Parts: sequence; C-alpha cells; structure tokens
Amino acid sequence: SKRGTAGALAFYDEDLDHGERQMNALALDMRRALEDGEFRLFYQQQHLTNDRSIFGFEVLLRWFHKDRGLIPPDDFIPLAERTGFITTLGEWVLRQACADAARWKQPYQVGVNVAPQQLADLHFPEKVADILRETGFPANRLELEFTESGIVENVYRAHETFARLRALGVKIAMDDFGTGYSSLATLQQFPFNKIKIDRSFVSGLPDDALSAAIVRSTVIISKSLGLRVLAEGVETEEQLEFLRREGCTRAQGYYFGKPKPRDEIEIIVNDDGVF
Ligand code: C2E
Ligand code: CA
Ligand code: CA
Ligand code: CA
Repeated sequence: SKRGTAGALAFYDEDLDHGERQMNALALDMRRALEDGEFRLFYQQQHLTNDRSIFGFEVLLRWFHKDRGLIPPDDFIPLAERTGFITTLGEWVLRQACADAARWKQPYQVGVNVAPQQLADLHFPEKVADILRETGFPANRLELEFTESGIVENVYRAHETFARLRALGVKIAMDDFGTGYSSLATLQQFPFNKIKIDRSFVSGLPDDALSAAIVRSTVIISKSLGLRVLAEGVETEEQLEFLRREGCTRAQGYYFGKPKPRDEIEIIVNDDGVF
C-alpha cells in the first residue's frame, strides 16, 4: 500500500547510519573545499630501474579538511564520482599540475589520473588542449592515466578521445593493469604508451610465484606491443632488483619515496645540474 511504502522510506531514511550521513555531508562539502584551497597536489617520483634516475612524477590528490584533517583519495574520489564533482575536481588537478610542472627547470614527465566520468566527457580532449595552451606545459611531457574500468564503461568515447589526445602529443597509460576483467583485450584495442602494473602484483615479489609470473608475462606483453612498463608500489630493494632483472624498466613506490607536497620536490625538479 501507499502508506506502507511511505513508512518504508521513512524507516530507510532514519536508518541511514552514521557513516553514511558523514559521507553525504562530505560529498556536499567538496565545492566549498575546492574554493577554500583545501585540495593539494602531492607528487610521487618515478624511476628508471637500470640507473635508478628519476624520469617523472605521478600527481596524487590530497584533501586537508578544516575539521577532519587529511582525507585520503580512496575516501573522497568515489564520493566525487557519485556526485559528478569529479569532472570539476579532475580538471582543476590537471590545470594545477601543468601549471606547477611548467615552472620546473628539469623536463620531467607528469602523470595525472583521469576518472571515468572525465573520459565520458565529449569535450575532455579540448579541455586538455586548453590547459596545455594556458599553462605552456609541453604535451609530450604529460601522461594521462586511465583505468581499465573507465575505458570499458566508455569504449566508443575512449577510441575517439585517445586518438585526439595522441594527436596532441599527450601520452596515455593504462593504470592498475591486471585488476580489470579483460585487461589484455583492452590493451590490444587502444593506443597506450605505457602499462602500469598494479601494486597488488608487486607486493608479493619476489617470493610469491603467481605475482612473479604475472609480472613476467606483463613485461613480455609490453615489450612485444612496444609499450613502456612501470611497476607501482615498489617498497624493497629485492622487489626493485627482481623487476630490473625481468626487464621492467620503470618503477615507483615508497622504496624511492612517498608522495610529497610540491614544495618538497622543488629541490629535485629545479636542480640546475650545478653543484
Ligand atoms: P593509483 O593511481 O593506483 O595510485 C597509486 C597509489 O599507491 C597512491 O595512493 C600512492 O600513494 C600509493 N603508493 C605508491 N607507492 C606505494 C608503496 O610503495 N606502497 C604502498 N602501500 N602504496 C603506495 P593514494 O595517493 O592514496 O591514491 C589512491 C588512488 O586514488 C589512486 O590509485 C587513484 O586511483 C586515486 N587518485 C589519486 N589522485 C587522483 C586524482 O587526482 N584523480 C583521480 N581520478 N584519482 C586519483
Ligand atoms: Ca595512477
Ligand atoms: Ca594502483
Ligand atoms: Ca587506482
């Protein structure tokens, strides 16, 4: 009955638990937070495995909330995706990252994560082109990271968008490789420049046989497709040495350094080579 439905709804509403109410409040608070400057970019260094030199940085977003303190991206990115605010936030991240990196003396590469909803946006490539023009950051130093799930949700759009991004000279990485359900098919269909092996396959190295086999075969596949390959979440010398031996040419992880605020990487990115 009508009455029963209303009762059920009222019950459901009252039944929202504390955690869920907090999440709703947080989702509604993001626009204010962006205006108040509570979002900050952190940068994590990326290294070549042979000489261990730095070649680039991945941009990782942080929220310093005025009351709640530091909120990690895994706690707010899904909320921003739910409300659609991720489109605004993601564009802000890209602009901020390009503006930061355009001022560096050293020509390091910059990796920026792109959410599925940004990929779904028809105007995404134009926005990227505008940001590169506004900031003067060279397209060939920008690498956009897409997850397989984001690509699979937007297959048709992804083909067109990747073609337009590649035409600009922007690089494209497949993020969290191996965690999707048809990673190989996706890899074959789209013009990636790089594969990023997910941390879940790196944490078991070198002892876990399955992780080792997955990493080995990913390196072989990337080589035969002519793609670069990077392992994320490298925490130990043993992991790094295993990866180098197996032909994985790039790595990122706490072993080299945690993500750091812009000011803390300034000494690296502005090193003029004179000691
Ligand atoms: P991701 O793209 O897979 O980023 C790698 C995550 O692993 C980062 O977590 C990084 O801090 C962490 N990490 C790096 N090295 C190590 C290590 O050696 N050990 C361990 N245990 N962790 C390591 P973070 O910064 O918390 O970001 C989590 C996720 O949030 C990212 O995963 C990405 O999916 C998302 N994210 C972060 N910033 C953005 C953004 O600007 N836009 C979008 N759309 N997503 C973002
Ligand atoms: Ca990433
Ligand atoms: Ca990952
Ligand atoms: Ca991820």
